[in-house]
Amino acid sequence: MTDLTSDTSNELTADTLPMAFAQLQLSDPLARAVFEMGYETMTPIQAQAIPVVLQGRDVMGAAQTGTGKTAAFALPLLQRMLKHENASTSPARHPVRALVLLPTRELADQVAEQVALYGKYTNLRSTVVFGGIDMKPQTAELKKGVEVLVATPGRLLDHIEAKNCVLNQVEYVVLDEADRMLDIGFLPDLQRILSFLPKQRTTLLFSATFSPEIKRLANSYLQDPVTIEVARSNATASTVEQHFYSVSDDDKRHALHQILRQRQLKQAFVFVNSKLGCARLARSLEREGLKTTALHGDKSQDERLKALESFKSGEVDLLVCTDVAARGLDIKDVPAVFNFDIPFHAEDYVHRIGRTGRAGQSGLALTFVSKSDMRLVADIEKLLKTKIDLEAIEFEEDLPDIRKQGHINDGRRMYQQGSDVPREDFSARSPRAPRTDYKPRVRSAPADPFFDTPYEPSLPPEAAPAWEAAAARPGVRTVSGNIRSKRKLAALFTSA
Ligand code: AMP
Repeated sequence: MTDLTSDTSNELTADTLPMAFAQLQLSDPLARAVFEMGYETMTPIQAQAIPVVLQGRDVMGAAQTGTGKTAAFALPLLQRMLKHENASTSPARHPVRALVLLPTRELADQVAEQVALYGKYTNLRSTVVFGGIDMKPQTAELKKGVEVLVATPGRLLDHIEAKNCVLNQVEYVVLDEADRMLDIGFLPDLQRILSFLPKQRTTLLFSATFSPEIKRLANSYLQDPVTIEVARSNATASTVEQHFYSVSDDDKRHALHQILRQRQLKQAFVFVNSKLGCARLARSLEREGLKTTALHGDKSQDERLKALESFKSGEVDLLVCTDVAARGLDIKDVPAVFNFDIPFHAEDYVHRIGRTGRAGQSGLALTFVSKSDMRLVADIEKLLKTKIDLEAIEFEEDLPDIRKQGHINDGRRMYQQGSDVPREDFSARSPRAPRTDYKPRVRSAPADPFFDTPYEPSLPPEAAPAWEAAAARPGVRTVSGNIRSKRKLAALFTSA
């Protein structure tokens, strides 16, 4: 057992890390897939993790989705498994060799999709199982035999108990988004799953934080791991330009319209703190001519997927959402994230802005701060270890009010330069001078030291880990636990 709190001998330095994929000498089928994906340079987590995983070492990685983490573990695992590759149709020749566990259906689906892309020119098979949908098609896939199984813990246990899959040949386990799995209360399920696996294996644990709970989990299940820490959102988030605007609650919609237009933004996520606020804002913005959809915890799984799809396809321009959408979702090229409400928890700020500036794209994070939000700003400053400067917004009063002219719902064209700007009826208000509530100190895109330093856990080390209490509770999971796991997921989504 390794004490991760004191052992730093396994930490990597960035000195001689390969940066180009070509330097890795991946086998042809994998190199071809990577080439087709358009990747040339490795992200920091990839540069650090891939060589280590290729050596078969255990890894404790601090990185969140959006950093290129999936390829960081999937490519070396596929490379190592190529020696087992075969074209036989016999299921026995395709036992599960790599197991990837994730906390939510969306994340499992997303990771499985990527694994399938990386492995598409190999004979290695992969599939995904998660709850909330019929087990039968998943069972059929499992029975055919798969080398890489991506799963959420609850549904995997159902399949294990139904004897749909055998895990005694698993050589690699990935505990992805481990902090989130513990938050949801999956520890007993994880412990149970891990008890079915061979002791001789490589275990990779990825987590946004190295909280005391995560360190305990790693101490229990990882052997002499190499610790890899890339700052939260690291390479991607360092490309995010952040602005905090001092704006009253009444002026937020006006400010949103103005910024969308001035910066000619095509699409954006707009974060709010409550489900009710989310639905209301989405309705108002839609009325004001912006193609908008809402994503929050009261929406069904189907509605959530549809909302995401319509955003991805460009059918809608604004996705107004609660923090249910803040973690993990990989939507490329979101040019901007608005914190219409500043988040209650500083950590959520980082998750939210991680939706933009992904995989090297530049992004914008725009946060509206009203007078009562100063404590929350201070929390973010503390977490980011940087001073936040509030900027004033100078509202343009002379813009035509198209609602009065009767042409609203014109969506995308609203953002084009010189076009009419949809906005609520501000005519009753007197012309507005620049706001003076806060002393503005305008600054350009900050070089944010937060993204160059390892992420620090928010819990004090002495705090009793939640999962210990959960683990102490009796109640071994049974097949009917399927229902239990769904409830856990539902609880997660309704908390936003
Ligand atoms: P992940 O953190 O694994 O969810 O990856 C986030 C996004 O970055 C995905 O859309 C990947 O396809 C993309 N990506 C991963 N690695 C690279 C890379 N080296 N270069 C460019 N894009 C990448």
